[in-house]
Amino acid sequence: MIQKTKYDSYCLNDISKGCKYCVHGKKLVLFISGLCSRNCFYCPLSEKRKNKDIAWANERKLSKNLNLAIKEAIEEAKICGSEGMGITGGDPLLSLQRTIRFIKKFKKNFGKSFHTHIYLIPETANGKNLRQLQKAGVDEVRFHPTILANKPLEKEMNIIKIASGLKWGVGIEIPVIPRMEKKILDIINKIRGHISFVNLNELEVSDINLRLFEKFNLKIDKKDPTGYVIKGSKKSALKILKYCAKNYPELLIHFCSARTKNIFQYKQRLIIRAKHAKTKFDKITKYGDLDRNIIYLNNFYPSFGYENKIENICNKKKKKLMQEIIKNKKKLVKFGIDEKEIIIDGVNLRFITSRKVLEKFSEQIKSLKLKPALVEELPTYYSLPLEVNFL
Ligand code: SF4
Repeated sequence: MIQKTKYDSYCLNDISKGCKYCVHGKKLVLFISGLCSRNCFYCPLSEKRKNKDIAWANERKLSKNLNLAIKEAIEEAKICGSEGMGITGGDPLLSLQRTIRFIKKFKKNFGKSFHTHIYLIPETANGKNLRQLQKAGVDEVRFHPTILANKPLEKEMNIIKIASGLKWGVGIEIPVIPRMEKKILDIINKIRGHISFVNLNELEVSDINLRLFEKFNLKIDKKDPTGYVIKGSKKSALKILKYCAKNYPELLIHFCSARTKNIFQYKQRLIIRAKHAKTKFDKITKYGDLDRNIIYLNNFYPSFGYENKIENICNKKKKKLMQEIIKNKKKLVKFGIDEKEIIIDGVNLRFITSRKVLEKFSEQIKSLKLKPALVEELPTYYSLPLEVNFL
């Protein structure tokens, strides 16, 4: 029987083990690199990630040095209370050794039960690299079969069959392009004996691929409040579910809607992060964001291109701004502000303080050419501002 889950998704029988962690925001998203040999028109990667050989742990850009990158990703998993991770890209198989190093270190650090799933495309998989991943500790592999090109599916199916001979969960994950039910059902029919689950994703559009969607005559669903869901994707997915319920009643199949991803998976993860990242001066809003009292440097504060500036700041500039911060802290203390009420935020290169300090010392702070502000921001690594009110 098809069921609507409490996460705004639909399933037949159950959802996969990996998805159970995801919907509660308990998975770290480890983005291995933006390199990929495919060029799917619906590829959701942003410009700053696509085709870039850079790894990310959730929203945190990781260092080029692999040992450092692993350490940073582990820090991010800890602050997010992650109990598992989903490894994605790009194609993680194009950076196989990097992927394996991450998996091994994570398993060593968090234990074998740290549930790890990985997204792969069958083209670059083979018996050897699949065995290496399984041996490193991957618990669940999700293949993304080719759905558009008219090439025979047999080769891809054979890879999935090889994977199913190893000790891990094997599934397929497909974005549902409207009116492609027949092709998707053909894939499911051919492979269902070799997989333990099917994930169907609601098709979403982003600024970078909007034009390509238009070329395929795919339109945004104007009735959907998110504003980036493709009209007809959910309808087609539910048709597939209905067909499977009737013809393959034993199959585990999950339709993950855009709301499931954004309201549950992403938002829950942020709520957990906010609880751990919050300082004694911050308040968590009802949306899971942080209300903060901030003092910015006058040459580094939210303005045009701020996100880019924070993510790409070089060590030399960072060091220089840190020196300014330390100098200014001394000056703030001289005004009579208790040292304990000024926290240096070394990631965003600013101070976090209490509302009392901002209210009482606002003019003195401004006299140092610093910028006091009331800020609502995302609890992500780079604390991206949603609203900034300079005092
Ligand atoms: S396989 Fe994934 S990462 Fe690669 S182009 Fe397609 S959607 Fe993008």
